[in-house]
Amino acid sequence: MRVDEMKQREKRCCCKHCGGSLEIKVIIFNKYGGSGAELYCSKCEKIEFGTEPEIYQAAKTFVDELGFNYFMDLEDNERTYKLNIAKVCEILSWGYQHWGLLDENGLNNLLTEPNKRLQEVKM
Ligand SMILES: [Zn+2]
Repeated sequence: MRVDEMKQREKRCCCKHCGGSLEIKVIIFNKYGGSGAELYCSKCEKIEFGTEPEIYQAAKTFVDELGFNYFMDLEDNERTYKLNIAKVCEILSWGYQHWGLLDENGLNNLLTEPNKRLQEVKM
């Protein structure tokens, strides 16, 4: 990922597991000096590409209201709950990208600013 793209995602996106904010962190991968800047969730303590906050909220509502469980083999606990939200984030993100509503700059502003659309229609 390019540095400017990473900075944009740090500003705009949230963790798809917990909804927390992301930070850019230099991660040391091994003792031979492999390292690099990565987006990181300090709450989950993991490297995290993140998702759009609107997608996280929709995914959380989906899991809460429908009791969605992709991970039937796992114990029903907080970790599995977060994994399910992350899974739904991936599915929703795929859909948004598929229909051209999400790209590297985030959600199409017609989705995030519905009033803007009304103004455009009125003009
Ligand atoms: Zn997190």
